[in-house]
Amino acid sequence: MDSARQPQHAPPRSPFRGPALPLGLAVTAIGILLSLGGTPSALSSPAAHQLPLPQVVQQVPSVETDAVAAADPCTDQAVIDAIGAADDAATIAGFGGADAFRAAVMAGNAPCIALDDPAHVWVVVNKTRPLNPVDFAPSSLVQAPVQVTTRSGELRPDVAAALGELAAAAAADGVGQIGANNGYRSYDLQVRTHDNHVRNEGQASADALSARAGYSEHQTGLALDLVACAPCGSIEAFGGTVQGAWVAEHAWEYGFIVRYESGATGISGYSPEPWHIRYIGVELAAAYHAGGYHTLEEFFGLPAAPDYVG
Ligand SMILES: [Zn+2]
Repeated sequence: MDSARQPQHAPPRSPFRGPALPLGLAVTAIGILLSLGGTPSALSSPAAHQLPLPQVVQQVPSVETDAVAAADPCTDQAVIDAIGAADDAATIAGFGGADAFRAAVMAGNAPCIALDDPAHVWVVVNKTRPLNPVDFAPSSLVQAPVQVTTRSGELRPDVAAALGELAAAAAADGVGQIGANNGYRSYDLQVRTHDNHVRNEGQASADALSARAGYSEHQTGLALDLVACAPCGSIEAFGGTVQGAWVAEHAWEYGFIVRYESGATGISGYSPEPWHIRYIGVELAAAYHAGGYHTLEEFFGLPAAPDYVG
């Protein structure tokens, strides 16, 4: 992990920083900390990532996980109502919070939750998991509420609102202005972009430079690339800016993760991109941060996705 993304002066990661955690999550986090030896660094070790979750659940009794074990949360009326209303935050709350949600999904105890459904904040898109349907488009898009340096500046409304909060908080912290490069990119635009790369540089270079159509997080409306302003720099420069360091430390507080971290290419399939952030909602992002995760694949116990299958 390079210094720009984890500043030396940054305080050690702790599940107790930032927004207040729901009591259940805090209790679970304490339990996991104790079971792993009581240090946050233990949570970041590869071994901690690979702990089978049911075992953790057994070691860490809580109201939420007991409830998950007792019944299929998808039969709970609050969950049914939340899914019907397409309210992802309420759905996660209906499961008993992010940790209980993740535990139920990983245990196969959540038949109403599909990690390949691009309409929800929990979707996992990578080189082995295309969007379903492949030409999916979000039902609603709005312009990002920051300076945008391309013509692809749209995001889902909830993501745009969270980006506005993030940018305002960064400015209030004195690190300067944050702008956006690409936000939503349609299937058709991704086809044209990728085909251009293939024509000019060949398939291998094209795959390294841009996602194949149907395989890009940008097509979900949940992801965007950041730049430091003003004047706005390039996406490649973002990781070396104070804004980039701030985002690496604080993005989770606004529901975002830095999706492609250094050291995770073999799992995520992408070289480090400190500029590419992905919205997963504040509930899941807090659990992701508290657990010390570095890829969405590990967070949901999915296989590594180093490359396209075909
Ligand atoms: Zn991106």
